Amino acid sequence: MTSIAFIGLGNMGGPMAANLVKAGHRVTGFDLVPASLDAARAAGVAIAASAVAAVKDAEVVVTMLPAGKHVAAVWSEIIPAVAKGALMIDCSTIDVESARKSHELAAQAKLPSVDAPVSGGTGGARAGTLTFMAGGEAAAFAAAKPILEGMGKKIVHCGDAGAGQAAKICNNMILGISMIAVSEAFALAEKLGLSHQALFDVASTSSGQCWSLTSYCPVPGPVPASPANNDYKPGFAAALMLKDLRLSQEAAKAAGAATPLGAHAESIYETYEKAGHGGEDFSGIIHQIRDLAGK
Ligand code: NAD
Repeated sequence: MTSIAFIGLGNMGGPMAANLVKAGHRVTGFDLVPASLDAARAAGVAIAASAVAAVKDAEVVVTMLPAGKHVAAVWSEIIPAVAKGALMIDCSTIDVESARKSHELAAQAKLPSVDAPVSGGTGGARAGTLTFMAGGEAAAFAAAKPILEGMGKKIVHCGDAGAGQAAKICNNMILGISMIAVSEAFALAEKLGLSHQALFDVASTSSGQCWSLTSYCPVPGPVPASPANNDYKPGFAAALMLKDLRLSQEAAKAAGAATPLGAHAESIYETYEKAGHGGEDFSGIIHQIRDLAGK
């Protein structure tokens, strides 16, 4: 049993902390939102009065926060209160630059640290089947792995500080672009009089095959579990896809990489969000693609 502090008990952090309790750890949590605290308490998480109070006796600290600025603020606040040698793990999806700065903050206090963003969404968080993409020194990763195994089923060491965030945004840039590509193919098929099922049957076993088609098919029917069959309820919200595409474009700019389709995907999702659809599943982008034909 490890003593773990968990800061950020929202849609992802709440169920992740609950799974650490189920895995036999002693978990103390903190969040700014009272409803999140109540849900975590009901799942067996001890609630602290502040982030600093939560980390006091922790051997491991996990943060699951919205963005880089939140992680920077919380890590600056708690690091002076963290016990000597405690392991710092950030599971939020944040920009690579902020992730590297967090590692530096921890290193200055001689604390091992890992950036470990996830994929798998809220369903994976609840089921404990998340994939973790980790960045940090080998010894820190080795210490983090058994903790992460309490919340996920695949844990990949991607490299040094920030490598987990780099892997996450590269993967999600593929995802954002491929969902638009699949949506364009269905929109074209509709105009050509080709049925959704016929396109699916061919493309899902041909060279057009990809996760956006076979797991998250943007039209109802061919993949019964895809959000399209549930009125495009997330799933993975379009606003979060836009966030990740923005992170990919910030990283591409800073690193000098050319990502023209990533940039275009970002602008398409931005228009979709501005039209009020940020809370829908990101596969709802097919509506926007269809609308473009009328313009
Ligand atoms: P969320 O908004 O539901 O949860 C974030 C929580 O952090 C909130 O409860 C908020 O009150 C808390 N918080 C913010 N500032 C705080 C502070 N100073 N002290 C304590 N708590 C604070 O968001 P989420 O959906 O749980 O996502 C968390 C992270 O995981 C994000 O970076 C997101 O991009 C990433 N992510 C989300 C999903 C998903 O499907 N929701 C999937 C993969 C990755």
